[in-house]
Amino acid sequence: MQIREALLTVSNYNRPGSKRVRTAAVACHYIGNPGTSAQANRNWFESLSKTHETKASAHYIIGLDGEIIQMVPEEEISWCTNSANSYTISIEACHPGSTGEFTDATYAAYVELCADICDRWDLDPLNGGLIRHYDVTRKVCPKWFVDHPDAWEQFKRDVATAMQREPGWQKGTEGRWWYRYEDGTYPANKWLLINHHWYLFNKDGYMCTGWHRWDGKVCDPADGAGDWYFLDNTSAGPLEGACWHTRDNGAQEIWYIE
Ligand SMILES: [Zn+2]
Repeated sequence: MQIREALLTVSNYNRPGSKRVRTAAVACHYIGNPGTSAQANRNWFESLSKTHETKASAHYIIGLDGEIIQMVPEEEISWCTNSANSYTISIEACHPGSTGEFTDATYAAYVELCADICDRWDLDPLNGGLIRHYDVTRKVCPKWFVDHPDAWEQFKRDVATAMQREPGWQKGTEGRWWYRYEDGTYPANKWLLINHHWYLFNKDGYMCTGWHRWDGKVCDPADGAGDWYFLDNTSAGPLEGACWHTRDNGAQEIWYIE
């Protein structure tokens, strides 16, 4: 997810610059002006600081291609959701037609952005953490989610799903594997038996491949102590990282634990 920051000039017409006392929900909107771009709407919000035409803004606006522009820092108040401004982070979104239905790209970005915010602010999308403008004022906004309550329920479930961090293998930076426990922590300097095979994790929590030493406590100890182990190094192979051992007859094989 890429967010472009283009903060509004502080003014009492779009970005008052004051901090919120609490953050209880993400407020979802639609821009209500079919076919307009995120940038054009951002420029209109910015112009309010000069024209004083009305008071309006949002923390984010999502465009027709799923591009995200941040206009107000999350901890500040935006002028978007009436009485809920004091406790919400607001998101506007562009749409191609008058039904207010979002493009696939906009929808995907909307889900991802909501999941990210809910994650960071500890909000539960299925229990009040996501609200519609409609829920505050009965304004038909976001129109598609007001006209299609089932789509709104699905949206909340999609955000909840996007927030789930399953335990198991994770591919980290530079394609290196690590393993996530249920609680978000990971093994480091540790052997783990996963699906009948032994894997060794180094001090940084990355899965080892090739030859490595183990002294009973530490992977590749600096003093050169420990026994040597060979971890399968077939790049992208199904058992990459699985420990090899020696059969009774001396042959080598990937170790299988019943
Ligand atoms: Zn709205």
